[in-house]
Amino acid sequence: MTVQTQTLRTVAGIINSVETLEGAGFLVRRPFPKSSFSQFDPFLLLDELGPVNLKPGQAKGAPDHPHRGFETVSYMLDGRLEHKDSEGHTGVLNPGDVQWMTAGAGVVHSEMPESEFTRTGGRLHGIQLWVNLPQRDKMIAPRYQEIGAAQIPVVQSSDGSVTVRAIAGEALGAKAVIETRTSIIYLHFTLQPGASVVQRVPKEYNAFAYLLDGSGLFGAEQERGNDGQMVMFAHDGDEVAIANPADAQQPLDFLLIAGVPLNEPVVRYGPFVMNTEVEIMQALEDYQNGRMGRIHV
Ligand code: FE
Repeated sequence: MTVQTQTLRTVAGIINSVETLEGAGFLVRRPFPKSSFSQFDPFLLLDELGPVNLKPGQAKGAPDHPHRGFETVSYMLDGRLEHKDSEGHTGVLNPGDVQWMTAGAGVVHSEMPESEFTRTGGRLHGIQLWVNLPQRDKMIAPRYQEIGAAQIPVVQSSDGSVTVRAIAGEALGAKAVIETRTSIIYLHFTLQPGASVVQRVPKEYNAFAYLLDGSGLFGAEQERGNDGQMVMFAHDGDEVAIANPADAQQPLDFLLIAGVPLNEPVVRYGPFVMNTEVEIMQALEDYQNGRMGRIHV
């Protein structure tokens, strides 16, 4: 039947991650931004922290820093991070937890390894995604959604070969609890060898997969993508297909992330992402004058 194959998106490109140091000096893998690829509207950045096995006392974090004009989404896979911000929010991210922080007009926050985890060391693995805010929302009051692992719907296919965690959007009948400012899909899939999935992603969404582990076949033409790569889908269909080959030696673990492009000017300067240079100057001035607050311990 040809109807179904016509709706499958093809692959528009495959991007390798670069390794870079962030915060106080921790290593991340980053498919974007980089000089040749500054954003994937509405997404501004994707960082994979680890996976790394840390010795006692070795964990590093990102001490006090500001954000304005977008959202930071942290998804913890292993290890524990502690968050504090100028709005008075504090919390610990445990494995499976998600923190969706809408910086809006501005927050100052710190993202540090939790003290007991720092003391003992252990495996650290996490993801941070930056989601741009539309012009109308850039100066809204900051908001902080902390979604524990238990609140994130986890669904398995009837034969157990596909598992999905719905962080934003819907998959296999599960609907995420998080509230987003624009339509966002953020799904974490695990496919056993021989398993495949077809996920609906409306045509207008920019959509990509990021491979956390393993190797898989992506899109209508079944292009190969590997651990640490980002696979971008074309806008030529309203479904994406992903498969883990039957002869694979391990599960395929990937994030499927999609959102409606904002199509607005993006002017970014470090932790500030606005629409004009003047707004960036204003953000710098507001931060330097303490108008984004500070962290009260
Ligand atoms: Fe931050």
